[in-house]
Amino acid sequence: MSKRVGVLALQGDFEAHERAIARSGAEPVQVRTAAELASVDGLIIPGGESTTMLKLIDYMKLWEPLSTFAHQKPVFGTCAGAILLANEVLSPSQPSFGVIDLTVERNAYGRQVDSRVVELEPIAEFGERVGEGPLEAVFIRAPIIRRAGPGVKVLAQYDGDPVLVEQGHHLVATFHPELTQDSRVHQLFLSKL
Ligand code: GLN
Repeated sequence: MSKRVGVLALQGDFEAHERAIARSGAEPVQVRTAAELASVDGLIIPGGESTTMLKLIDYMKLWEPLSTFAHQKPVFGTCAGAILLANEVLSPSQPSFGVIDLTVERNAYGRQVDSRVVELEPIAEFGERVGEGPLEAVFIRAPIIRRAGPGVKVLAQYDGDPVLVEQGHHLVATFHPELTQDSRVHQLFLSKL
């Protein structure tokens, strides 16, 4: 049976993640309720606006269920999702689930050059696990990972900062792998389920 991958579908680019999951051979499931969350093997928190997502999580009474899920099951956060998973958020400080030992600074690339497409060179182990070659990365008003704890493995960097990291069954990208045709980052997440 194919794996069921939840995508938090409150706000942001969750549909692009659904397509990326389907391309990777798993079943995408939109998650808006605790019952839907209970039915999936892992969860993606998409990009969007983390402050808006926090308000909707509160409004939909999803904080407790999401926090419990994130402490037990694999979760993959992209951009705003990365912010929600980090231990500590700066600029300004805001609540987060704290399941991956990162300090992230929101909107840290500045206003003039806040969005770009670049080519990353992931570490060799990434290639061994999901296939070699450079990785196209779309950054949109991205956070910068200012600190990664000792338990965090950095899989790719941009400009000296970590941009793709994992800790156990949690995966975080400050860019948007769901916006390119390359499915390797999603495949890496599926391998954790
Ligand atoms: N700037 C957004 C935030 O701080 C994140 C942007 C994104 O997800 N593309 O939440």
